[in-house]
Amino acid sequence: MTTSAEKSRIAGEIDFEKNGRQAGYLRAPLSRNTSGWGIVEIPIIVVKNGTGPTVLFTGAVHGDEYEGPIAISRLAQTLDPAKVQGRVIMMPAVNVPAVHSNTRLSPIDNRDMNRCFPGNPKGTFSEMLAHYLDSVILPMADVSVDMHTAGHSGDSAPSTNMHDVGDAAMMKRTMDAAAAFGAPYNVVFSGVDEGATFTSCVERRGIISLGTELGGWGRVSVDGVRIGRRGIDNILKHFNVIEGKPETAQADGSTATRHMMVAARELYTFAPSIGTFEPCNVVGDTVKAGQPSGYLHFVEDVDREPIELRYNHDGVLWMSAGPGRVGRGDTVAVVMTDYVAASD
Ligand SMILES: [Zn+2]
Repeated sequence: MTTSAEKSRIAGEIDFEKNGRQAGYLRAPLSRNTSGWGIVEIPIIVVKNGTGPTVLFTGAVHGDEYEGPIAISRLAQTLDPAKVQGRVIMMPAVNVPAVHSNTRLSPIDNRDMNRCFPGNPKGTFSEMLAHYLDSVILPMADVSVDMHTAGHSGDSAPSTNMHDVGDAAMMKRTMDAAAAFGAPYNVVFSGVDEGATFTSCVERRGIISLGTELGGWGRVSVDGVRIGRRGIDNILKHFNVIEGKPETAQADGSTATRHMMVAARELYTFAPSIGTFEPCNVVGDTVKAGQPSGYLHFVEDVDREPIELRYNHDGVLWMSAGPGRVGRGDTVAVVMTDYVAASD
């Protein structure tokens, strides 16, 4: 990437090679009406000691996703450098402007930062941030955990997620890391528009890449925070950055993460029209092909029957739309199925 080689306009005082704990802010320039030389401060905490891998935790790439940022903040406030072997880089609120506006998109340039990678140091604010992550932070990382939820536009069954990265050894290392994180589900998927996501940059650099989906609907999920906090501790244990064995017991009595996948277009259900969506299930429910996934109501029309939407496939509901109003083409349900390796 030509832009990755260009120098970032974002600066800070953190010395990533120094032992101990450092906490401070990156300074991202933002010229505005009230301040031509203004900056946006992005929190970053680095804990380094001894020898070991570098683990990166990022939260709030989207500003209306809360559980990951809470979990990373808690870790950042409590992680004792003396108990660390390696380096932990924690960025609980990457997209500070979107956090302040409580929105998925940046209020500065109206961009989805997770569609701006690998970014551009001379581009829009979101592109500049994306470029900093890709060109400055990622080259230091061995493992990346980027924590998301479904935001205001949906709910998600608490899960880690990853791509089918092709290389068998990398696939195993990533699935092992996901199993160690210990969410109820780990979802292998191909996603949408993936070339411009953070995940795609992490993978291009040969770094172990995990995402999370820990809730949504514009609220803080109690389960999501609990699973997220345990998960990031588990990741540090799995890579021997801190001592201990990952704890993976699940609320339903099972002992481990269930590996799932979303491998076909028919697993997605889209709204055919604008309307008010009444879902028939909550995320984590087992569903069957042909069952109604929900009803699209036209409450502003007299005597107009709702449209019944159906699942196209058996599985477990991973993502659900909401709250309430949906537009034509919005995803209203994503079903996941048990993971089967491509070569099987
Ligand atoms: Zn997100």
